Amino acid sequence: MSTSQTLVEQNSLKREFYHLIINGEKVESNNGQTISTYNPATGELVAQVAKASKEDAERAVQAAREAFDHGKWRKYPVGRRAQVLNKIASIMRSRFNEIVELEILDTGKSLSTAQGQVNQAIEDFEFYAGAIVGHRGVVNNMPGQFHNYTEKEPVGVCAQIIPWNYPIMMAAWKIAPAIAVGCSVIVKPASLTPITAIILGEICLEAGVPAGVVNIIPGSGAEVGNYLVEHKQVDKVAFTGSTPIGKDIMNKASNTLKRVTLELGGKSPNIVFEDADLDAAVDGSLYGIFYNSGQSCEARSRLYVHENIYEQFVEKFVSKAKQIKLGNPFDKETHMGAIIDQTQLDVIDGYVQSAIQDGAEVLSGGKVAQVEGFENGFWYEPTVIANVNHSMKVVNEEIFGPVVVIMKFKDEKEAIQLANDTEFGLGSAVWSKDGARATRVANEIQAGIVMVNCPFSAMPGTPFGGYKQSGFGRELCIETLDLYTETKSIISYYGNRPLNPLGL
Ligand code: NAP
Ligand code: MG
Repeated sequence: MSTSQTLVEQNSLKREFYHLIINGEKVESNNGQTISTYNPATGELVAQVAKASKEDAERAVQAAREAFDHGKWRKYPVGRRAQVLNKIASIMRSRFNEIVELEILDTGKSLSTAQGQVNQAIEDFEFYAGAIVGHRGVVNNMPGQFHNYTEKEPVGVCAQIIPWNYPIMMAAWKIAPAIAVGCSVIVKPASLTPITAIILGEICLEAGVPAGVVNIIPGSGAEVGNYLVEHKQVDKVAFTGSTPIGKDIMNKASNTLKRVTLELGGKSPNIVFEDADLDAAVDGSLYGIFYNSGQSCEARSRLYVHENIYEQFVEKFVSKAKQIKLGNPFDKETHMGAIIDQTQLDVIDGYVQSAIQDGAEVLSGGKVAQVEGFENGFWYEPTVIANVNHSMKVVNEEIFGPVVVIMKFKDEKEAIQLANDTEFGLGSAVWSKDGARATRVANEIQAGIVMVNCPFSAMPGTPFGGYKQSGFGRELCIETLDLYTETKSIISYYGNRPLNPLGL
């Protein structure tokens, strides 16, 4: 057994110190720097994590380059790569509770939320283990004695930069499709939540991913992330995070014409028609905004309700919002976990205060929450705001917290117009029992995802990604494999007579 195969087995996943993973090895950063990572629910230190420097990033690029240019991974039969992806999933499953615990400690999210996300991360690997087997080129019809076929070749070395809101899920969304097609990756987790991406990197090694194919380097986005984006030997950058950083990355990646995919912010509309199943719409809309403490790029943070059911809907919605229980994230009864840090808490409260100044009405919540036993954590009350309009900041800008604005509409046309009146285009939801209406509205909404009578936006196999300033590229689906490959066209001539196109 190689050292890497025993990495996870010998160690508890819960440690005081986490290493970088470069070239198949667990290493400290070259300058000895570390990141302290905290539990947002308690404010307590969770662990120290090696903090990659530019030199470490350079080593990771060289390792990924070597693995891609001269290594065996991309040359494996596809079934063998699929087998390794399934092994990653099965090791993750065998360490499920430990991974869930670490994800909760690092993010402050609630138990069921973390369980669902770790489970999905596992299923992502299983999905791509299956999907890759059917991913292939085509044979094209050609005139005369010509033959043309295409090959799908891995794009190369991919820098993958991810945010803090879904640490393990984002790592899985990035790593699984990329290594499935034979790429090598360098993952830069968010500085606030580096632990589970590192664990996933260790599991990849244990499952048999060769050294250098998966490198994990927590470090400063502005320094290490940017270094990868500008690096000449990196072929692609896949980024999930805020829209301003996404724009900066696209700009810088243009110098080397890197392939770029961006999953950015959102301000997703949620439209409830008068013919909706009211209870399902209320419950789905609560989940749509308060899941993950509202720290979701596809959070349905603009709620539009038909004027005929507005009062009734709001009454039920607010009454249930007030029942949302904040508390110990490990307690099954807790509905909503903590906010990631003090900065984000201040951002959220700033938006609520701006709404109040603009004349909006807070129907519930609206302030920093006091949670017994968790006084040093970062908590915000589930907040519902009415009496707003489209000129207000609280309606136009992404908050990334448990804050929803509610507005009335009078007909289908107005609902569509309001829904599309945003620079973003990630998620959206429509609640109606009239299938024809739901289809019409779904067709008109300018967003990458429309949920019809359904609160879920992301399941392995469903394309996830945005229109407009929510980015481009789709993750979690078959199409993602195309975004990690180049199409090579091979044209051949099989005629008897030699070709002499110049007539010489
Ligand atoms: P962020 O500030 O954009 O950071 C995201 C990642 O980029 C982090 O790893 C960060 O590193 C890194 N980074 C920061 N500056 C960089 C630079 N100049 N060059 C390269 N990398 C850089 O976003 P966040 O605050 O972590 O996450 C919240 C945002 O992500 C929200 O706007 C949300 O909508 C969006 N999001 C979108 C999706 C989606 O699928 N569309 C999913 C989740 C989140 P550090 O941690 O070291 O700063
Ligand atoms: Mg943390």
